[in-house]
Amino acid sequence: MLERYFAILERRAKSKYLENKSRMRKLIDRAYEIYSECCFCEHRCGINRREKLGRCRAKLGSIASHFFHYGEEDVLVPSYTIFFSGCTFGCVFCQNYDISQYQAGIYIEPEKMAWIIEGVVGRARNVNWVGGEPTPHLPYILEVLEKCSANLPQVWNSNMYCSMETMDILKYVMDVYLTDFKYGNDGCAERLSKVKNYWEIITRNHEIAYRQGEMIIRHLVMPNHVECCSIPILNWIADNVPEAFVNVMAQYYPTYKAFEYEDINRRITNEEYRKVYSHAVKLGLNLI
Ligand code: SF4
Repeated sequence: MLERYFAILERRAKSKYLENKSRMRKLIDRAYEIYSECCFCEHRCGINRREKLGRCRAKLGSIASHFFHYGEEDVLVPSYTIFFSGCTFGCVFCQNYDISQYQAGIYIEPEKMAWIIEGVVGRARNVNWVGGEPTPHLPYILEVLEKCSANLPQVWNSNMYCSMETMDILKYVMDVYLTDFKYGNDGCAERLSKVKNYWEIITRNHEIAYRQGEMIIRHLVMPNHVECCSIPILNWIADNVPEAFVNVMAQYYPTYKAFEYEDINRRITNEEYRKVYSHAVKLGLNLI
């Protein structure tokens, strides 16, 4: 399984953004059009982000940290990871709430970021755009890639609440979608992450991402959310994106505002994890 996985991630002779260098200027122009009436995600604030912050409170290109990450899935490590601040979600249990929910980070000129990325070739296996959430920062990412020539797979590490407009741009530049599939219904998403229409948007984007790149789906098992979230998600994956790789994660711990929500104010039990994992095995998912 792992050999197949390595082969998939590294089978491209060239990263997608290098194949599409000639379109990069057009993609950047399109991204700045979206930026001036923002609809990078399905909140669709419609504001000019040159003038004010949107719901994500993301300042374009605001980078909280960037470093070699050894904590991602084995097959991605070492991953050169760029953490943006701001997020399109307001998860009450966010483990990165200091950067996702508050202003943090500095702007690094795209030329400099491109130079940093070129410097990690041979030492990192990929470039991992994350946050917070990378979606509000897409114009900046494109500007970096325009100036970059590093032949490294680009990883879109996201909650996948992107708009169709964003997905249309990503298809030219991202090689791997590392997705975070959290909820099996809209009610839990609205209560715990403050987003609407979760299921329809996230399943739509997973189907698109499955067609336009490689995909690793992360699912964090949450206490008391096995039946309402974990099981429906795994069933959907089996029915709709069966070849995707799936990481069933057990490391949930209550943090940030989780103590205000009785159902998620504890770690998961062995029993909960076993139930989810064995269901994934029964469905024949590609577990990593
Ligand atoms: S990326 Fe931010 S400003 Fe743009 S639509 Fe989403 S929440 Fe609103």
